Amino acid sequence: MTAAQPKASHYINGEYREDMSGSSFETHYPASGETIATLHAATTDLVDEAVAAARAAQPAWAKMTGVERGRILRKAADIIRERNAEISRIETLDTGKAIQETLVADAASAADCLEYFGGIAGGITGETADLGGDFVYTRREPLGVCAGIGAWNYPMQIAAWKAAPALAAGNAFIFKPSEMTPLTALILAEILTEAGLPAGIFNVVQGFGDIGAHLASHPGIDKISLTGSVPTGEKVMGAAAPTLKNVTMELGGKSPILVFDDASLEDAIGGAMLGNFYSTGQICSNGTRVFVQRGIYDRFVERARVRTETIRIGDPLDPETQMGPLISAAQREKVLGYIAKGKDEGARLVTGGDALTLQGFENGHYIAPTIFADVTDDMTIAREEIFGPVMSILPFETEEEAVARANATEFGLAAGVFTSDLTRAHRTVAALEAGTTWINTYNLTPIEAPFGGVKRSGIGRENSKAAIDHYTRLKSVYVATGPVDSPY
Ligand code: NDP
Repeated sequence: MTAAQPKASHYINGEYREDMSGSSFETHYPASGETIATLHAATTDLVDEAVAAARAAQPAWAKMTGVERGRILRKAADIIRERNAEISRIETLDTGKAIQETLVADAASAADCLEYFGGIAGGITGETADLGGDFVYTRREPLGVCAGIGAWNYPMQIAAWKAAPALAAGNAFIFKPSEMTPLTALILAEILTEAGLPAGIFNVVQGFGDIGAHLASHPGIDKISLTGSVPTGEKVMGAAAPTLKNVTMELGGKSPILVFDDASLEDAIGGAMLGNFYSTGQICSNGTRVFVQRGIYDRFVERARVRTETIRIGDPLDPETQMGPLISAAQREKVLGYIAKGKDEGARLVTGGDALTLQGFENGHYIAPTIFADVTDDMTIAREEIFGPVMSILPFETEEEAVARANATEFGLAAGVFTSDLTRAHRTVAALEAGTTWINTYNLTPIEAPFGGVKRSGIGRENSKAAIDHYTRLKSVYVATGPVDSPY
């Protein structure tokens, strides 16, 4: 298992860097509880060193052409794809997610992202406004040094989704992974160096919340992008306020899926299962409130139960396994607590509901995929983000009612609609208060589509051309072509 031990804890100024003065911490394989690596948290001095390296390197990086920067990002994408099997194995050891998922959704998504932003780096331009002689042009300039703080569910993907647009636009970057999944961001750094990225442009520092807070408040950092929970988002924005930092916040959700009577039943169930059970339910955009119209309600609940009970749970490194454990014992306790509340508050348990002990993985944090039916809007499981494989099904009668109930939440990350009525699909999706929506599918996040939330689920967008706006600032330049018309 120690095969996952990195060369050192941090990556600063183009090389691995160890600093034993920071507290040591272990990272565990969630399927067995075994220690897979021991690292050291950064000290604030080490973070300051990373900021200084990034500041020193950034101006020369920004002076390169976009095409030159993009070439390096695209080369990094190629190297990631060549090393996908090895990286996916490490991601599975670090997160416990099934290898059949990490092979396609983690390093592969990071590669897509680097390729996409590498491709558009040369196309980042300003605009010109003709004033009939005089004219104004705009320059899209990098912010300087940006920092990212990641959650534990998609460690390498999150690092790439934040860093690739930043680097394409000419910024330097410092990334702090979750201390539960510290490994693959280091591999990303190593690969970027191999692809030709100048030293100091992408740095990784490990640590807990205090190091995240130090990054958020650091005067040498121009932007902070967080993927995490709403309470952490509030703290990070607060810490960023005194320096008036630009922020991107990718936070939690309690997203709705609306299934109308005329939907394809099996497709809607497939979408709802993807939106509740993929990555053992640890996905921010999950559609954890599944509103199903009365006419197909009973059939939906029964078929969802049957299909859920066929999910293969087991050894995450076995390619046949479809669901691994949760990230930690604490996360399992939290999810089991929500399941207990669901039972206590009167939801009908359709399947699952228990922790699982698997032979050979007795110390793994496994849990049965769980479905509750007859859930009402006031129940805790319908209001709070669980971040585990727990689907809540709620019956509804009319479109107006479903939209109003779907929107009655402080969150607004994602939403989905299943219907075969074309006009209703577009009408309801327009009425749903969410940043990322799907019609007749769920949870697909191609790099071409903007991703992010509204309300308390976030600020800003990742992916797509929109991400470039969040890593650049606009300078307007007025150009006079005649004499100055002054009254003085
Ligand atoms: P947390 O909010 O607990 O942590 C996120 C990151 O912030 C971690 O690296 C954490 O460090 C760090 N952190 C904690 N406290 C502070 C602080 N005061 N200042 C700065 N940084 C801090 O989230 P989880 O890791 O538990 O991830 C789950 C949450 O993330 C869920 O709510 C989920 O919805 C959300 N999420 C959102 C996504 C999106 O794109 N919208 C995608 C994925 C997840 P440490 O780990 O050391 O505590």
